[in-house]
Amino acid sequence: MALVKRTSSNVLLDTALKNFYSAAEEMGLDEGLIDILSHSERQVAVSLPVEMDDGTVKVFDAYRVLHSSAVGPGKGGIRYHQDVCQEECEALAMMMTWKCSLAGIPYGGGKGGIAVDALKLSPKEKERITRTYAARMAPVIGSWIDIPAPDVGSGAPEMIWIMDTISKIKNELEPGVITGKPVGKWGSKGRTAATGYGVATCALELLKNLGVPAEGATVAIQGFGNVGTYTALTMVDAGAKVVGISDITGTYYAPNGLDIKKAFDHVQNHPKKLLEGFTCDGCQKLDLPEVLFLECDILVPAALEGVLNGNNADKVKAKYIVEAANGPLTPEADAILDAKGILIVPDFLANSGGVIGSYFEWAQNLGGFFWSIEEYNERLIRIMKDNFQTVWAYSKEKNVKMRRAAFMAAIQRVADTVKARGVYL
Ligand code: NAD
Repeated sequence: MALVKRTSSNVLLDTALKNFYSAAEEMGLDEGLIDILSHSERQVAVSLPVEMDDGTVKVFDAYRVLHSSAVGPGKGGIRYHQDVCQEECEALAMMMTWKCSLAGIPYGGGKGGIAVDALKLSPKEKERITRTYAARMAPVIGSWIDIPAPDVGSGAPEMIWIMDTISKIKNELEPGVITGKPVGKWGSKGRTAATGYGVATCALELLKNLGVPAEGATVAIQGFGNVGTYTALTMVDAGAKVVGISDITGTYYAPNGLDIKKAFDHVQNHPKKLLEGFTCDGCQKLDLPEVLFLECDILVPAALEGVLNGNNADKVKAKYIVEAANGPLTPEADAILDAKGILIVPDFLANSGGVIGSYFEWAQNLGGFFWSIEEYNERLIRIMKDNFQTVWAYSKEKNVKMRRAAFMAAIQRVADTVKARGVYL
């Protein structure tokens, strides 16, 4: 019987399925395995009755999806956003399976969400909705079951409330049930910089493989938030020149290199953590999108999804792109940039330092022993380098672009594990 392919009216899920089917078929994966991996293992939908501060009760829809636990427990954030739906969680859970697999960490993919506008909740309402979510999801989350983390609209306070609720329900401390907890409260040192370090490590490995010296290589970075700042600082430490940075206030450009430490301090001291008002020797201010089109070796989009698309990708002058944000290139942009010969390091390789950092937090929680920041960074950089080289080698061996190679390598590991474990249950 021919394989009946799944489709979805949800664009994100439909795209995730199409990408998976196309890579799996190119790999010649067995139809049974394709069928298994195109489905989620478990999808849980619950309602959350919450008492609001004014005494009324509101009910919110919430979800947790486990795409695959073949390689290990599920891993993925909990999104607090009014547009959250089950299909979105399914798509994001599947993408987490591939990201964790590629990262070489012992996790499958999970994702959860609550359909609520987090900005409209008071702190107490947020605590009640979070604890109700944890209680209703208690049977399907756990250190060896499915391990949530922060996502859009959630952060360290929500994570420690979830840890506390689950620990009380189970009557034993379970810090490994969730990651992204505050440092010093079962959270891990090093996590803040992890994603940016990982992005910079990929950029430096790329230059090394191409025989381009890091010293003097030029870099432009869109977004000077958590990921952008630590990417910039690490590139400068390696001798590169960051010639352009940007945030919502505009692009800041200096052809001889910006003073990145000064920019970092400026943002730290700005009441809204922005570059607004920043200046240094030779720095000019340009319009917001200009950072994407600067003359440079490496462009790092570290802000939003879809910033390079069919309408603007032909203006890119960089030689290489390292995707720090999730999905910064539309498929149209990808095709245009490929045709221009621009080498692209895909997001789920480049920004995997974040999930590797979560794995470190979980490992420390299970072991009950916390690492120094030096230990954390040394392990992170070693893993990122290995993963970059694996994808590089796979792309050469199969003669495919790095994005395709990353996807195929990720699917292969999960498929091999499903095959080895067997399909029973
Ligand atoms: P952040 O909120 O700390 O920073 C985002 C930055 O982008 C800010 O400087 C903001 O001003 C800027 N920005 C927003 N819109 C912009 C625009 N139109 N033009 C230029 N700059 C703009 O976010 P972050 O944590 O640094 O995350 C950045 C991206 O990386 C997101 O796509 C996120 O999903 C992805 N990511 C983050 C992590 C992590 O660990 N933080 C891990 C994996 C992926």
